[in-house]
Amino acid sequence: MAPIRLAIVGVGKIARDQHLPSIAGNPAFTLVAAVSRHDPQIEGVPSFASLDELFASDVKVDAIALCTPPQVRYELAAKALLRGCHVFLEKPPGATLSEVEALRALADEHRVTLFASWHSRFAAGVAPARAWLTERDIRKVQIIWREDVRVWHPGQAWIWEPEGLGVFDPGINALSIATHILPRPFFLTAATLSVPANRAAPIAADLTFTDGAGTPITMDLDWRQTGPQSWDIIVETDAGTLRLARGGADLFLPDSTHSDGDVEYAGLYAHFASLVAAGQSDVDVAPLRHVADANLRGTRISVEAFED
Ligand code: NAP
Repeated sequence: MAPIRLAIVGVGKIARDQHLPSIAGNPAFTLVAAVSRHDPQIEGVPSFASLDELFASDVKVDAIALCTPPQVRYELAAKALLRGCHVFLEKPPGATLSEVEALRALADEHRVTLFASWHSRFAAGVAPARAWLTERDIRKVQIIWREDVRVWHPGQAWIWEPEGLGVFDPGINALSIATHILPRPFFLTAATLSVPANRAAPIAADLTFTDGAGTPITMDLDWRQTGPQSWDIIVETDAGTLRLARGGADLFLPDSTHSDGDVEYAGLYAHFASLVAAGQSDVDVAPLRHVADANLRGTRISVEAFED
């Protein structure tokens, strides 16, 4: 089969760190264009300042990978779907739940693939964690996601806007794993969102959830962490404790460990290629719905102003 002619849109940190190497490493794709307001200067690849300019050119495109911040996701994705392109959305898939549903409908209508990606679900420990948990009685779940925003998101103004999600930008990765590995749907019971006095989005959040069996699930998100960083999910079960660390890359079970390097984006692109080949979409909004619920049910408290 001919490679999928792909354009990458929004060439910033994640596009350079992960998408470009993964596209180059997967023969199912050929990178035919880049779309970014600042010329990203990718050797041998023509660049365009907007999707309109790309579509007006004679470059033939089958698919786009959308790596912009979420605020502009819908407009760009809709334009590409209407044009008959398959679309790979970086996480989160949109600024609101409803716009993602609208994209899903557009993809179906135009018979193209929409892939709402959750990269953390492709971390090495996640699939074996999910398999192990299907057989267990789950007693308690703790999610601890504490990182230094100055290290991981320096100067990203968009992340502090309401749709930028604040600390839920990394927190939604934890939710994408939890919604994938825990066998029962769970729901938010309480949340406190700590919002810096000069920002619109939270810098920290404490959340509690439960499920149909009454399992206690807590989530501690904090962007003010210096020193050791934590991206851990700990699940206590009738057969001992499961711990996922480093965002799902390492899995510790009572009698074994699973660990691998950085396999997430290679997995995402392999999945995107298989969806396109099968004529299917993959759109799961469960992680984004929990963030929306936190904003519906959570109490917002004002905390010290944050400067980069
Ligand atoms: P980033 O470094 O700020 O890059 C995003 C790029 O999108 C910018 O360089 C910008 O390029 C373009 N863009 C288009 N419209 C924009 C707008 N209105 N505001 C700001 N930039 C705009 O962000 P990123 O870290 O790559 O994150 C992008 C998306 O990937 C986010 O949804 C994030 O959650 C997700 N993600 C990030 C990471 C990570 O480690 N950073 C990991 C996984 C997923 P031009 O100015 O050239 O248009």
